[in-house]
Amino acid sequence: MARRLLIIGGGICGLAAAHEATRLGAQAIVVERDADVGGLLSTDRREGFSFDRGGHRFITSLPWVLERVSEVVGDRLHLRTRRSLVFFDGTTVEYPLRFGDLIKRLGPTQNLRAVLSYAAAAPARWRGGNASNLEQWLLPRFGRYLYERVFEGYSEKLWGHHPSQMSAEWAPQRISIPSLGGYLRELIAPSRRPARTYAREYLYPERGIGEIPERFADAVLAGGGTLHTDSVVRSLKRMDGRWQGDLVIEGQSTLEAFDAVIATVSPTVVASLVRGESGNPAVPSGAGLPNRGLRFLNLGFATPVPLDATWIYQPDPKCRFTRIQIPASRSAAMVPAGKGSIQLEEPFDRDDGSTLDDRVAEATATLRALGLDLGAPTLRFETFAPDAYPIYRDGSRQRARALIEELQQQPNLHLAGRQGRFDYIFFDRAIAQGVNAVRSVLGEPSYPETTTSAERPVPLVEAQSVIGRQQ
Ligand SMILES: Cc1cc2nc3c(=O)[nH]c(=O)nc-3n(C[C@H](O)[C@H](O)[C@H](O)COP(=O)(O)OP(=O)(O)OC[C@H]3O[C@@H](n4cnc5c(N)ncnc54)[C@H](O)[C@@H]3O)c2cc1C
Repeated sequence: MARRLLIIGGGICGLAAAHEATRLGAQAIVVERDADVGGLLSTDRREGFSFDRGGHRFITSLPWVLERVSEVVGDRLHLRTRRSLVFFDGTTVEYPLRFGDLIKRLGPTQNLRAVLSYAAAAPARWRGGNASNLEQWLLPRFGRYLYERVFEGYSEKLWGHHPSQMSAEWAPQRISIPSLGGYLRELIAPSRRPARTYAREYLYPERGIGEIPERFADAVLAGGGTLHTDSVVRSLKRMDGRWQGDLVIEGQSTLEAFDAVIATVSPTVVASLVRGESGNPAVPSGAGLPNRGLRFLNLGFATPVPLDATWIYQPDPKCRFTRIQIPASRSAAMVPAGKGSIQLEEPFDRDDGSTLDDRVAEATATLRALGLDLGAPTLRFETFAPDAYPIYRDGSRQRARALIEELQQQPNLHLAGRQGRFDYIFFDRAIAQGVNAVRSVLGEPSYPETTTSAERPVPLVEAQSVIGRQQ
């Protein structure tokens, strides 16, 4: 009899796991809390406009992940080039920085101040040692001038905590530019395998990143798998060598037996589900694992956006938005012909009392400061990602690791994905973890999940996407 696998969470990790299960002849049952599968990789479509839940790019150096996605998504993937900007000191500069652009935009005095403050941080750099917080990690690497203008306000806005209160562990995963020195080296002599931040090319489906999970979902269904949306797992119990899941499928309670469970949701949620003989939780979850949420303000306009940029960082702490996305620069099909759209990303945990009208007015002012006067939007709506970023603070990462380890002592229970591992991973790794969790359950050898050293945890995709095409 085919082995039955319960997969909790229908983001790309859960869908890739379900897809692998169907490929290997197992039965995959995905239980997703939301009305649609896709998780963070979803695209919301209205009136001909498409908005990702935060602009995404497909970048990987894992050839097998590229092959898998290409196989499922087919000819929908296109190679794109991104142009990103940072808005600071009243102007926009290219990101990653380019010498010519910096000199032109900021002028020699500010450039000199940046270099002098970097030089002043040299003793701290030479002393080395482990940074105990994010500020200590950033200051020696960039100097006080750039730290205060680019990183300090942005990080505080993004995390809701000053960089001095954030763990430095997050930095190498998120800031791929290791230091201003590394930055200058990359400007003068670009390396053949630059860090992810330098990657200009990426793959993107025609109608938004959501096409990737949508195609995986189709492939799961075609392979005989089951996708339950608007559904949750109430508890998991070991019975007769299998897992008994108490599921609530679209409001209906049902008990089902599974050979293995792959959870792509928070370890604290999994800990609350797993019950011992007495019916009490078998693993105490301890303190919760904090996440930062995002709110996306999606605006459609009657005219195209006259700016050649994919996205713009907004580090000013007085502005609520952190990033401004221009969806049409990823794919023309993201907007109806002759129209334009903008998405403004805002870190969000709790309601601040502002209304949608207030936020649209703030967005209009933010866009005007960039020289964009687009008139009143013809479409405006908001979407949310409640668990966008794991927050590494007060030992949360260590707590997560200990809890995951303890949960994985349970037979045939695996945690995978961004939520499941409480890890700041990109979606190629989420796919890899989902696929490998299934391979481990089914006794198949796992595929590689990384290809580079610890200094370059997130490698470049564009070379691989070209290699992929040549194969
Ligand atoms: C703004 C932003 C931009 C990003 N940009 C990029 C990029 O450019 N390139 C890149 O590679 N990566 C990017 N990422 C990361 C990428 O989105 C993630 O790595 C990937 O989507 C993680 O997939 P996942 O399935 O592990 O998690 P998720 O997408 O979070 O999926 C988890 C799923 O579980 C469901 N769920 C939660 N709790 C329960 C429950 N109790 N019961 C049932 N279901 C539940 C959720 O609804 C969700 O569907 C970005 C992330 C963000 C936030």
